[in-house]
Amino acid sequence: MKYVSTRGQAPTLSFDDALLSGLARDGGLYVPEEWPVFSTEEIESLSGLSYPEMAIRIINPFTAGVIEDSDLATLVNESYAGFNDPAIAPLRQLGDGEWLMELFHGPTLAFKDYAMQFLGRVFDHILTKRGERVTIVGATSGDTGSAAIESCRSRDTIEIFILHPEGRVSEVQRRQMTTVRDANVHNIAIKGTFDDCQNMVKGMFNDTEFRDHCKLSAVNSINWVRVMAQIVYYFYGALQLGAPENPVSFSVPTGNFGNVFAGYGAKRMGLNIEKLIIGSNSNDILSRFFEDGRMLTTGVHPTISPSMDIQISSNFERLLFELYGRNGDITQTMMKTFSDTGFFEVGQSQLEQALSLFSAQRFSDDETLAIMKQVLSENKELLDPHSAIGVAAGRAKRINNKTPHISLATAHPAKFPDAVKQACGQHPALPPSLSDLFEREEHFTVLQNDRNQVQDFIKKHRMDGAN
Ligand SMILES: *Cc1c(COP(=O)(O)O)cnc(C)c1O
Repeated sequence: MKYVSTRGQAPTLSFDDALLSGLARDGGLYVPEEWPVFSTEEIESLSGLSYPEMAIRIINPFTAGVIEDSDLATLVNESYAGFNDPAIAPLRQLGDGEWLMELFHGPTLAFKDYAMQFLGRVFDHILTKRGERVTIVGATSGDTGSAAIESCRSRDTIEIFILHPEGRVSEVQRRQMTTVRDANVHNIAIKGTFDDCQNMVKGMFNDTEFRDHCKLSAVNSINWVRVMAQIVYYFYGALQLGAPENPVSFSVPTGNFGNVFAGYGAKRMGLNIEKLIIGSNSNDILSRFFEDGRMLTTGVHPTISPSMDIQISSNFERLLFELYGRNGDITQTMMKTFSDTGFFEVGQSQLEQALSLFSAQRFSDDETLAIMKQVLSENKELLDPHSAIGVAAGRAKRINNKTPHISLATAHPAKFPDAVKQACGQHPALPPSLSDLFEREEHFTVLQNDRNQVQDFIKKHRMDGAN
C-alpha cells in the first residue's frame, strides 16, 4: 500500500516513510492511495476474534510489504498486552440497543493508548531496522501527550518533546506526562492554547531546515498510523452487535476529528455503519459545520472536556479530500483559505454527502454535567465528561432505534475527577498502576508562545537521551 498527500503535491510514500514523515511536505496529510475493502465474507470471518487478532487482520493490508506478518503480530500483541481489561475494548449495555465501548483500559486511561501503544512500537521497529533516530514533537490538549510519552519512553531510537497549553490540562493529565523520568522525554508547557501548540508544531514541520536538522516526526493524530489503528475498534464493536449483516451506529466525542475519521475509514473498508454522530463541547466548529457546510473558527473556550477544546480539527482535511473526490488541488486551495482567513465553505453536494453519514451536536458544560448525573443514576455508569458528550450526542441524534448504537467512552472518569465530583458527587479512584501519581515528582519547562524559542530549546536538548 502506498500513501498520498491530501494536497496532491508531496511524493507518494511507502508505509514506513509515511509513518516517519507525519505531515506531508506540501502541508497535507497522508492517506492510503486506496482504501482496502473487505468483502462481507471477510468481515464475517473476523467475528469472534480477540482484539489483537482482529487488529492484525485489519492493519495487515496497510502495512503489507513493509512489516513482515510475524513482526506485525508481535507488535500488535505487545501493544495490547498491558491493557487492564481482557476484552481490551469491552462493551457495556446502557439501554435498549444502546452500548458504551470503554476505550480507557490502556496505560494512560484514554482511547489514545489504542493507537499510540502500537505507534511507538512501530516507530522503534522501523528505526531500529534502519539504524536511525528521530525527534518526535507533539502538541497535546491533554491525553495525546501522556499516551505518546508512555509509548516512546526509554526507546533509544526516539527523543520526544511534548507541548501542552499551560494550565489548560487537568492535573491528572499533566502529572501523567511530567512525572515520567526517562531521559528521552521532554515536557514543555506553552503560555497559550492547544491550538497555539498545534500551530507551533505545524510551523516546525513547515520549517524544512529545522525539520531535517532534527529529523522531526509526529505522533499527533495527523499521523496516519494513529487513524489506522483506531479503525480496529469500530470493527470490533460492530461485529459483536450484528455486523456485517446489520448496520451499527457510533457516537464519538470529537476534537481533532481523528477518532471519528477512523470510523469513516471503517465504513470505506466495508463495515456497515449507518451513522457517525459527532459530539462537541462549546468549541463547536464541527457541529456548526454540519449544519451549513461553513467551517468558521472562533476563539477556543476552556471547558470541562479539555481534550476537545479545539477549533481547528486537523483530521477534517482527510474528509475534505474525500468529499472532493480526492482532489488535492481543491483541498490545498481550501486549506490555504482556511489558514489565511479562518473560514471555508463546501458546496451543497459535498455537504449532502457528508450528512449522509455524519451528524453532530454540541453540549455546554452544564448539559454535560447533567448527562453525567443522569447516566450514573439511570444506567449506573460513571462517565468522564468527554464520554458523556458522546452518550448525549448519540441520544440526541440517534435516528433509528432498530440499529444498535455504540458510544465511544474515550477516557476513564478518574482522569477528570473534578468534573466527575461536580456532576456525580463522588471522587473516582485511579487504578492501582497510577495510585501514587500525586506523590511523584514533576519535570517540565515553561516557554512563551514563540516558535523560535521552542525550536532553540529542542535543538539544545535533542541529544540528551543519546548521551
Ligand atoms: C483526544 C480526545 C478526544 C478527541 O478525539 P479526536 O480524535 O481528537 O477527535 C476525545 N476525548 C478524549 C478523552 C480525548 O483524549
